[in-house]
Amino acid sequence: MPYNLGDEVSGILAINDGKGTIGYNLQHSKGRQRFTVAHELGHYVMHGKTKKELFVDKDYIVKFRSNKKYSLTEVKQEKEANAFAAALLMPKELVFKELYREQGLTENELIEFLAKRFVVSVPAMTYRISDLNSFL
Ligand SMILES: [Zn+2]
Repeated sequence: MPYNLGDEVSGILAINDGKGTIGYNLQHSKGRQRFTVAHELGHYVMHGKTKKELFVDKDYIVKFRSNKKYSLTEVKQEKEANAFAAALLMPKELVFKELYREQGLTENELIEFLAKRFVVSVPAMTYRISDLNSFL
């Protein structure tokens, strides 16, 4: 469901009676919205065991950089939700397939190409690639 969430909030997940409603920010790009919905879906699948709960997500990358404001559990849940979203939107096998097919691009060009191909933001793809690099 699109919501007017203001600038700060990317997405919310409201769980009521076990039913989840996901809200995403209308002002964000399509790529970010897709990541947000996938991220909130991850919260629902992995952390939504309670009957009533509200997840409010601001910028995930900011969140990673300012870990101190959040409890360890929250940081862990955010990482898990991000990993869930990344795996859903940028499956490892498909990213590798595209990576090997595209030769002769600079690193920036390659990331931009992949971001477009998978309809995600450039920062999300950058993060995914560096994460997948540890598998190489
Ligand atoms: Zn989250």
